Amino acid sequence: MNPYMQETENALVHTYNRFPVIFEKGEGVYLYDTEGNKYLDFAAGIAVCGLGYGNPELTAAVKEQTELLWHTSNLFYNASCGTAAEALKKASGMDRVFFTNSGTEANEGMLKAARKYAWKKKTGRYEFIAMEGSFHGRSMGALSVTEHEAYRTPFEPLIPGVKFAKFNDLDSVKALISDNTCAIILEPIQGEGGINMADPEFLKGIRKLCDEEGILLLFDEIQCGMGRTGQMFAWQYYGVKPDMMSMAKAIGSGVPVGAFAMTEDVAKDSLEPGDHGTTYGGNPLVCTAVAKTLEIFEKERLTEHVKEIGAYLEERLDELAASEDTVLERRGTGLIQGIRLTKPAGEVTARAMEEGLVIITARSDVIRFVPPMVITKEHVDEMIEKLKKSL
Ligand SMILES: *Cc1c(COP(=O)(O)O)cnc(C)c1O
Repeated sequence: MNPYMQETENALVHTYNRFPVIFEKGEGVYLYDTEGNKYLDFAAGIAVCGLGYGNPELTAAVKEQTELLWHTSNLFYNASCGTAAEALKKASGMDRVFFTNSGTEANEGMLKAARKYAWKKKTGRYEFIAMEGSFHGRSMGALSVTEHEAYRTPFEPLIPGVKFAKFNDLDSVKALISDNTCAIILEPIQGEGGINMADPEFLKGIRKLCDEEGILLLFDEIQCGMGRTGQMFAWQYYGVKPDMMSMAKAIGSGVPVGAFAMTEDVAKDSLEPGDHGTTYGGNPLVCTAVAKTLEIFEKERLTEHVKEIGAYLEERLDELAASEDTVLERRGTGLIQGIRLTKPAGEVTARAMEEGLVIITARSDVIRFVPPMVITKEHVDEMIEKLKKSL
């Protein structure tokens, strides 16, 4: 092993098996390692770098902010937090936003906001219904609604009152509802779970159930939101609006930021001063990146681009599924897609690195494609060529 990689391994807690590469620079949709090798990137740092690398406008805005002010805490106003919140409000269709430092924290906050809503309304409701195959993060609350045996078992007991329904099975959701159900949380398109899309009828059915039973509907849009479906957020793609939603990953283009947002109806009966907080959340540095990212999305009409390029990716992946025996099916939409394989996906992603292609897995048998949203048809063609060799 390269001595620097060895040093890194010796210094870090051993929680990741890393690809043997040291990335040094990014440009557009390409990454460069310390040996000067070039890689086409269809992972975007796990669906984060939506604008690719080195976007000049974004870089200039963040650079300028680094010279002005990095941090103030939430005890004061700052010049970009309000702008970023307003932009996120507009893009998400929600009424109020709380900035966090990660996706996990956004889900934690959302779960707390749901409990507070029940507390304020004196309903006594405290249970959460989540989905099989879900991923919402690794902190104790977010992990409690994550259905993945290996992630959970060593950390049990997790928070009580969580039940798991079968994704896309409305009856299984109905069967779990009780007088104590506080909220239902789900990803409209499951990312880590293997790029599983919700059926429109499933989401519509859940919305109806929630309305009838007085249950809050929470969407985790951390991976599937922010343009990947060809709409700013996946709820707009489905036309099913949640009461609260979490966001992260691509909203800051790589600065560590997340957010959860809610409708005014929830906000008026939920978190109040003193209920929840974060030291860094909404700081001027990250909010400059969020505000500028959203501005660029709108100005460049990126969602329109995603619809077009996503359809092309879908077509090329469908061709691949038809011609390659090792590819069982294609899943997903827009720029959140996957292919399910007959063999371990990790073998293919490792081979792809040797071909100069960065792709990642979702569960053990799916390769997922969550590239920068600025890719072109030529990039899709280059990816397919490299992928074929890696299969
Ligand atoms: C990545 C992800 C999270 C966790 O976000 P972090 O920023 O890693 O804390 C939660 N939910 C979904 C759907 C994700 O993809």
